[in-house]
Amino acid sequence: MRDWEKYLNRDIACECHRTHRCGIDRIVIGEGALLELPAMIREGGYKNICMVADANTYAAAGKQAEALLAGSGILCTKAVFPEAELIPDEHALGVLLAGLPDGCDLMVCVGSGTLGDLCKFVSHKLHIDYFMVATAPSMDGYASNVAPLIVKDTKTTYEVGRPKAIIGDVNILARAPMEMIRAGIGDMLGKYVCLADWRVAHIVTGEYACGFVENMMRECVDVVKQAMDGANRREKGAIAAVMEGLVLSGITMSYVGNSRPASGSEHHLSHFWEMMLLQQGKPDALHGLKVAVGTVISLKLYELLKNNKEAFLKPGDRVLSQEKWEGEIRRVYGPAAPEVIRLEREMRKNALEQVEERRKAVAAHWDEIMRVAKSLPSAEEMADILNGIGAPYLPCQIGVDEQMARDGIIYAKELRNRYGLLQLLFDGGIAQGMAGDAMGFLKQLNKERQT
Ligand SMILES: [Zn+2]
Ligand SMILES: [Zn+2]
Repeated sequence: MRDWEKYLNRDIACECHRTHRCGIDRIVIGEGALLELPAMIREGGYKNICMVADANTYAAAGKQAEALLAGSGILCTKAVFPEAELIPDEHALGVLLAGLPDGCDLMVCVGSGTLGDLCKFVSHKLHIDYFMVATAPSMDGYASNVAPLIVKDTKTTYEVGRPKAIIGDVNILARAPMEMIRAGIGDMLGKYVCLADWRVAHIVTGEYACGFVENMMRECVDVVKQAMDGANRREKGAIAAVMEGLVLSGITMSYVGNSRPASGSEHHLSHFWEMMLLQQGKPDALHGLKVAVGTVISLKLYELLKNNKEAFLKPGDRVLSQEKWEGEIRRVYGPAAPEVIRLEREMRKNALEQVEERRKAVAAHWDEIMRVAKSLPSAEEMADILNGIGAPYLPCQIGVDEQMARDGIIYAKELRNRYGLLQLLFDGGIAQGMAGDAMGFLKQLNKERQT
């Protein structure tokens, strides 16, 4: 079992000249970990506890947690969402808020991604502590200090507080739906792209980067990669390893203070598709499965970049006029367009001078960027790995059509002011062309799949 103390509640004076810290008191991952919940609540001195769950997670672990607490004489109220598919938006936040008892001092969140994000946000706003009782190794947000929510139709990542404790009972995690286990693996395989984007941003814009955090994230990916076949067979040791990798990944975000080490172009694509599927009223695949598909596309774009040097370096004006760009944003983003346009007015990342400055930096460091691209696994390799565990690797497998995939490559980056591969393509005026090439590759991959 991993020595979590080494990562928590201590200052790590780093070579990057920052001090890293993760303010989580306890992490327990193992068989029967849930049994420690009553003692943890007592140690924290909490008096007014509310369990937050949905119908599925209540059945998976909430009921058991409730019985454990009752057996230890700890009273607890419940806020249970009845929805089968909870959307992390203003409505859900309101429902959670209304369900909390007055004077609540601890939320025990029984669930995974969406519920966790809602609890994190509310905990942060109301200054209420929260524990995470994980029900699935499905994403890496357990230990992170960010919560992506959909507010004003737009996927926005908020910086929030961390849980006081994370409990990953492997007996519970190993019974999670297989899709969720695969999603957790997909979320981690995406880190290849996140780390490459981070490196490239450091090279191009001089953004802060940290080798220590980067290495830690690589370790998480290795742990998950080694365990993924076993996890796919629900072997408990492997499930524990995947969960550990996911939690560690969240700790790296805490160390940096944002999601930079864990979220790059593949996450931009995933967030974009989530918004679009929601707008169109279509079923939305799990976060990590969308990230998996976004990873294959991003890896392909990194591969294609090396053939686009001349196109990138060709002199000339690349930036769309503001009217044209806004027209495109209205077409692509629909009801979310006003918010996206507002964001750009604030950030001005597409302004001519900014684009020019970054283009010059890319030109000056082209070889260095190519070295980052060459260190990555190929898109085909990644598709094989995903296919090997029964996870999706093509947009059509997660309900994303060609138009949505193409628009994502060109415009998903507008959701955040974070430089990465997609902004690099936009800056060089090569996003359209490369999106077309990537679509050709995906079609070929799909043909192979069907034969
Ligand atoms: Zn550092
Ligand atoms: Zn993720």
